[in-house]
Amino acid sequence: MQLQKLVNMFGGDLTRRYGHKVHKLSLHGGFTCPNRDGTIGRGGCTFCNVASFADETQQHNSIAEQLAHQAKLVNRAQHYLAYFQAYTSTWAEVQVLRSMYQQAVNQASIVGLCVGTRPDCVPESVLDLLSEYREQGYEIWLELGLQTAHDKTLHRINRGHDFACYQETTRRARKRGLKVCGHLIVGLPGEGQAHCLQTLKKVVETGVDGIKLHPLHIVAGSTMAKSWQAGRLQGIELADYTATAGEMIRHTPPDIVFHRISASARRPTLLAPLWCENRWTGMVEIARYLLAHGVQGSALGASWDPILLS
Ligand code: SF4
Repeated sequence: MQLQKLVNMFGGDLTRRYGHKVHKLSLHGGFTCPNRDGTIGRGGCTFCNVASFADETQQHNSIAEQLAHQAKLVNRAQHYLAYFQAYTSTWAEVQVLRSMYQQAVNQASIVGLCVGTRPDCVPESVLDLLSEYREQGYEIWLELGLQTAHDKTLHRINRGHDFACYQETTRRARKRGLKVCGHLIVGLPGEGQAHCLQTLKKVVETGVDGIKLHPLHIVAGSTMAKSWQAGRLQGIELADYTATAGEMIRHTPPDIVFHRISASARRPTLLAPLWCENRWTGMVEIARYLLAHGVQGSALGASWDPILLS
């Protein structure tokens, strides 16, 4: 698959910049989530079951142990980015965050940190801390869960923040030279291709360095699972995902890096759509779509109206 020629993918971008492969290793910092513990909300986002994307057993191991374990799972690389992925990885006192991040950068092979969090959990003290690491020469990515720029949908999926909050945090972080990666979901309830293109437009206009695209996974243990079981919610069809993600990529300027353009999950946690069981299916179809319709950035300047399925 010639994906790198069609999309500015993070893996290729890292290889070009570092001169060799750099892998991203997922960590569990033992954080919790303010949208679950009652600080911001209860019950969490309606699509979320953290166990579907994070290995809960990892949190009992030290950061060094987790990094060593993860490095064995990928083909050994010279350098890695430590990705604090599970829950809200800025949701602790700054001293706790410092100790956690420091354990990662203490490993000689770590060249940077990716910190996954919510837009409403990034106070100035966290930006100060991340800026310190940036000034020491580490590559720092703030990975902000946005999912959609539509406030109506954000409310419906119980995110607990609005788009203005994402904009404000992104601007504060980028002003300090921190890179921001916005996480977006395609296939949210009540949204179609037009909504996703509008979201992308607003994210690009706000300013962003990276984007992570994800088909909606309906997973066991989430609030959405109940709607799916009752027949009120369907998983997104592969063709719909391909055309929507493909058009989003075509409307994205070539200098913005895609950290991911699809995602997989395992049964029985994954309930729908089952094409997401295979990690390559979405990527292969998007590559085909882009080969037929044009590469990343090829629709810049073209209409943002939805282009329905080919
Ligand atoms: S998606 Fe993130 S913010 Fe939402 S409930 Fe899950 S861990 Fe919390």
